[in-house]
Amino acid sequence: MSKTPMMRQYDEAKKACGDALLFFRMGDFYELFHDDAKTAASALGLTLTSRDKSNTVPMCGFPYHQLDSYLGKLIKQGFRVAVCDQVEDPKTAKGLVKREVSQIVSPGTVTDQALLDPAVSNYLLAVLPQSIGKKKRRKQSDQDAAQAAAHPVGFGVAWAEISTGRFYVTSIPTDQLASLLARLSAAEILLPDSATDFPTDLVSDSMLTFRPDWSFGVEAGKENLAKQFSVATLDGFGLAEFDESAIGAAGAILDYVKETQKASLGHFDRIQAFRQSQFVEIDSATWRSLEISQTIRSGQREGSLFAVIDRSKTPMGSRLLGQWLTSPLTGLEQIQRRHDTVEELVKEQKLRGELQEFLKEVFDLQRLLARVASGRASPRDLSCISKTLATLPSLKAKLTGRKSGWLQQLEADLDLCAELRGQLERALIDPCPAQTKDGGFIKEGYDKNLDQFRELATGGKQWIAQYQQRICEETGIPSLKVGFNKVFGYYLEVTHLHRDKIPAEFIRKQTLKNAERFITPELKEYEEKVLSADSQANELEMKLFDELRQLVSAQTARLKSNAEIIACLDAVVGLAQLAVEQNYCRPEMVEESTSEIVDGRHPVLDIVEPLGAFVPNGISLQDETGFLHLITGPNMAGKSTYIRQVALITLLAQIGSFVPAKQATLGLVDKIFARVGASDELSRGQSTFMVEMTETARILNTATAKSLVILDEIGRGTSTYDGVSLAWAIVEFLHDQIGCRTLFATHYHELTALEKDFAGVANYNVAIREWDEKIVFLHKIVPGSADKSYGIHVAKIAGVPNWVNQRAEQILEKLESSGDVEANQDAIKSTTSRGVRSGDHIQLTMFGAAHHPLVDKIKALDANQMTPIKALQTLHQWQSELVEETSDSEVDQAEQVKN
Ligand code: ADP
Ligand code: MG
Repeated sequence: MSKTPMMRQYDEAKKACGDALLFFRMGDFYELFHDDAKTAASALGLTLTSRDKSNTVPMCGFPYHQLDSYLGKLIKQGFRVAVCDQVEDPKTAKGLVKREVSQIVSPGTVTDQALLDPAVSNYLLAVLPQSIGKKKRRKQSDQDAAQAAAHPVGFGVAWAEISTGRFYVTSIPTDQLASLLARLSAAEILLPDSATDFPTDLVSDSMLTFRPDWSFGVEAGKENLAKQFSVATLDGFGLAEFDESAIGAAGAILDYVKETQKASLGHFDRIQAFRQSQFVEIDSATWRSLEISQTIRSGQREGSLFAVIDRSKTPMGSRLLGQWLTSPLTGLEQIQRRHDTVEELVKEQKLRGELQEFLKEVFDLQRLLARVASGRASPRDLSCISKTLATLPSLKAKLTGRKSGWLQQLEADLDLCAELRGQLERALIDPCPAQTKDGGFIKEGYDKNLDQFRELATGGKQWIAQYQQRICEETGIPSLKVGFNKVFGYYLEVTHLHRDKIPAEFIRKQTLKNAERFITPELKEYEEKVLSADSQANELEMKLFDELRQLVSAQTARLKSNAEIIACLDAVVGLAQLAVEQNYCRPEMVEESTSEIVDGRHPVLDIVEPLGAFVPNGISLQDETGFLHLITGPNMAGKSTYIRQVALITLLAQIGSFVPAKQATLGLVDKIFARVGASDELSRGQSTFMVEMTETARILNTATAKSLVILDEIGRGTSTYDGVSLAWAIVEFLHDQIGCRTLFATHYHELTALEKDFAGVANYNVAIREWDEKIVFLHKIVPGSADKSYGIHVAKIAGVPNWVNQRAEQILEKLESSGDVEANQDAIKSTTSRGVRSGDHIQLTMFGAAHHPLVDKIKALDANQMTPIKALQTLHQWQSELVEETSDSEVDQAEQVKN
């Protein structure tokens, strides 16, 4: 069967857009065909139909005005989508309507407002393994190349935010890739085709887009980047310290963005060197377990650190705060500069309030500018830019004469762009329409010619209204009307009732059921004037609009710098607001490895719990008081909360924020590590213990004396004895070999013995009050080790039947009284291994046991392979035998059990 011309046109478009799904505009619908249709139908829940009767061309589609919604759904699922539009008016087209792919959208190249989260940066990232870049240039033998690719010494990495034009580049050694990827959490990652052995555990497949190796070429990259930034060389960007692969990666970004955007990229006017050493290293496991940008349980932003501390008034401020959280500073001066600013804004309540009022009036200048640069801005976008500029004089005035060096700098750099603002204000009406097609967005008085055309048009319309009145009187037909239609323009309509009064000079055009339509030469003359004036006005308005767009576009650099200043101001005012609302203190930052916190609070629980419900806790981590604290205590006591609180306070201090505490002296950290024992974390489809150990290995290999390490129940993912031994050795290593500040929460009570032999180790536990056979969690950290596990108490609270709890208490007592745990490994193992799913582990302090008649009997019971009911009966019987052997008080207890 031969193809229709339109399907041939479809095939052409499809060829041009690679593996992207093609949305093909047909009339009022976007349609998908063939495999695209099948994929989209299932991904979007659309009905799959067929284009022809024989069902050979599967098809599905949706109304054109739902484009954003369907595009968004596919992008979220990691698809790339090409949008093919009709580029001429079907009404005037001769033959087949011309169509063109207007843009290709992928997760990393989205620019559409409707598809972007305003508060989050959406990064496109490119990674070039150095081995691949070098292979190209040195022409190694295939074998060498393969070997080099398997062990890349490092990576060139570049990333950009298409919706704002922010563009960064760096090169890093292999072991830093994971933390950089965690830092950026990019929406899409470009890789060269030959990077087949890219560590896939770092990213999900759906985020990867493979590009030809040549698109990562270093020489071409240099040339294209220089051309894009209108510079002769890239020397001015400070990239010399990076490996060349950085340029290759940056070039690949530019290449991809050009290919997908199909629009001008004027907002990509520079590239920034990113030096990882200037920022605290936080790897992805730490990122996850500290719940900085999303919670572990829901994977949502709600309830994360970012969500609860963000007090920004603009999306620009929120995005910048997000970046600060991913990149805490390591330089003392820089941090103090931010603290100075927060302090001034905390003290100056009136100033803070006023700045916030102005910031509320500010629009998302960064994303507006990107739309201007790519030619997609609307009149309303320009008007929003003008309104944003209108807030600058007040902002600048408020910032004048401030103490903080940073505020002074921001004030000095703020560029009022008064001329541009004046012109936009003169030109655009307010409120301004979001579309150009109906015109009417340029103000009267802005352009003489436009005013004239408009006058002619309205004048003509007025004349026509008067003409109708005159003709009515002249002819004596009261119901005579002037109407307009597209086919023959202005006409006079007379009902059949008055047919006899129609003058001879009327020219008949159309006869309807109960009326006739006429034209007159006079009417046609004015019609000509009205219509041409209207279309001339529209044309001129579009021209003026284009001029305005170009005017803004030419000022991109100044406006972008203003946008960055506003973002900084918004973020730092937000931090001050947070500090006031939550009663934070300014931390004193020092170089020494010390962390002293008085009455610290967990920043998230502090906000989400009712006021006063959270119990504050301090810490003193340093050589004299111990730099490695072991925290023991029952489940639910607050160990995990406490150690995370210390990490989060440190993180907040180094982004420049005040901290939730009464007082804090904090030594700078270079890296923060947080790890959670396997069974505490949701399984991610790998051997959880393997994950736990891999992540722990990374700490032991990369932590330095300046790092902060938070370990939560590490060693839990294996059997008790393995676990204790590993945990023990890990503590020794961190103490002796690294000497970094460490908090280790553990239920392995055995570890508390370490305090005796290691000067830097100190024991702490969470205070418990026992009251009326119940325990009350005081959530208070106190010196010393917890003396019991209290697992049974927790079981009680959780609703485990009384019988089991009381029985457990008896057993515990027996076991504890018989001492030596080591000697009885076998007994413990056989009591715990059966009936317990692998991966669950019984706390040693509760069941860690000596030889006991009951244990032996249970072993025997097992060997006999009894039915469960029989086994229960037997247990009952043994239980009563056991009771007879025990003391009086125990008899009482057992009596209770029976009743
Ligand atoms: P653990 O790690 O010791 O099992 P968690 O740190 O998970 O205990 O804390 C258990 C619960 O106790 C938390 O969900 C929280 O609601 C509460 N909690 C912990 N610390 C505090 C505190 N300092 N003040 C008030 N409530 C707390
Ligand atoms: Mg815990």
